[in-house]
This record gives sequence, structure tokens and C-alpha cells, in this order.
Amino acid sequence: MPSYDPNNIFAKILRGELPCYKVYEDDKVLAFLDIMPRSPGHTLVLPKAPARNILDIGADHLTHVVATAQKVAKAAMKAFSADGITIHQFNEGAGGQVVFHLHVHVIPRKAGVTMKPPASEKEKPDVLAEHAKKLAAAIEAA
Ligand code: AMP
Repeated sequence: MPSYDPNNIFAKILRGELPCYKVYEDDKVLAFLDIMPRSPGHTLVLPKAPARNILDIGADHLTHVVATAQKVAKAAMKAFSADGITIHQFNEGAGGQVVFHLHVHVIPRKAGVTMKPPASEKEKPDVLAEHAKKLAAAIEAA
């Protein structure tokens, strides 16, 4: 497996070199909205530690990422009046991974509504800003 590339796009977001629609942050993780959401509120949860994917992350960091994904999922159920949550996490190109800094997708779902295809449509900035604010408030209130 290739080594971690510190110039991947999520590493740049973590360093503050690129913007994101942040919904949660602590000393070990950052969570922000996917700019091409598969459904409203689609969120990515990342460790701050430099890990390419599940194959090289330390178990302690992975545990915190999963706990944060749970926190986001519970808040998203309320914030987006969801009926369920889909969790995705891809590893290496053959596993569907496109950006090589570990991330967990948290995707709120409505009964009977299919997800958009991956990376099919960039959401409008004002919609993403409003969704991030709503989800951040629900996480804060939990
Ligand atoms: P994957 O590595 O297959 O999990 O896919 C990477 C995900 O990152 C896709 O769902 C993209 O829509 C998303 N993505 C790519 N660039 C950005 C960005 N700058 N901010 C937020 N999400 C992004």
C-alpha cells in the first residue's frame, strides 16, 4: 500500500488551507459536509491523525472516529428528520476510495428515497452552509 500523502485534499482542509462546512471538531477529529452529498446532511468524519484508511490507522484513533460518526448520526436523525442512516467507509482504489485520508461517510436517509450517485452533483454553498449550521447545532445540543 502507498504511504500517506500529506498533500491530499482532506489533509489541506485539516491544516486550514482549504475551507469546509464544519459540523464538529475536537482534538482528534473533524467532521464536515460532503460538498457532493448523496443526501441532505451527508457528512464526512476524519481523524486528525495522518491515516490513509482503515489499513494504517491506529485503533485508538479509529475508535474515536467511529464514536464521532455515531454522535453525528444521532444528531442527523433529528436535524434532517431522517428515518435511517447509511454509513460508508472505503479503503484503497479497489475498495472505492477516492480521497486518501481516512473518512467515514454518515448519510441521513428518508424512507423510500434513493441516494444520489457518488460525486454526481455539487450542492449550492448557501444550502451547505445552512445544513452545516443545523447539524452543528443538533450535535451541540445532544
Ligand atoms: P471516497 O474517497 O470514495 O470516500 O470519496 C471522497 C468523498 O469526498 C466524495 O463523497 C466527495 O464528494 C467528497 N469530497 C471531495 N472533495 C471534497 C471537499 N473539498 N469537501 C468535502 N467533500 C469532498
